[in-house]
Amino acid sequence: MIDWSQLYRPFAEQLADLLQLCAGAGLAVEGTEGYRSPQRQAELYARGRTQAGPRVTNARPGLSPHQWGCAVDFVFIGKEGKRTYEGDWKEFGCLVERAGLVWGGKFLTMPDRPHVEYGRWREVRAAMWRPPKAGGCRVANPAHKRR
Ligand SMILES: [Zn+2]
Repeated sequence: MIDWSQLYRPFAEQLADLLQLCAGAGLAVEGTEGYRSPQRQAELYARGRTQAGPRVTNARPGLSPHQWGCAVDFVFIGKEGKRTYEGDWKEFGCLVERAGLVWGGKFLTMPDRPHVEYGRWREVRAAMWRPPKAGGCRVANPAHKRR
């Protein structure tokens, strides 16, 4: 289950539309992972690099929309309520786009069919980003000096 309160609000509203579209099309899906902490993203990024197993992401911490509450991964609910990756992903992707969202199944470098993201997540990141250390830049903005 995902924590809806951790999602960027406009994205959550579009996800609600997506779930309605899926219900209407007879696709039983469920969100498995939404917001991810930088620590969790670092763990996932290490898989297939410094840790065993296949690579699961190309995004370093801070560079995944999951960190900004702007992505959710889905699974299908199969027989007896079991989660499964067997399902009509093509139809799912079509509905994702109809809801105005971006489907990971169309990613060129690492297609990710369960992944759905908010198209303008980089703008959300830019608005929310705070440098790790307080104090701002070492170099003053020259534009300020001229005033
Ligand atoms: Zn994802």
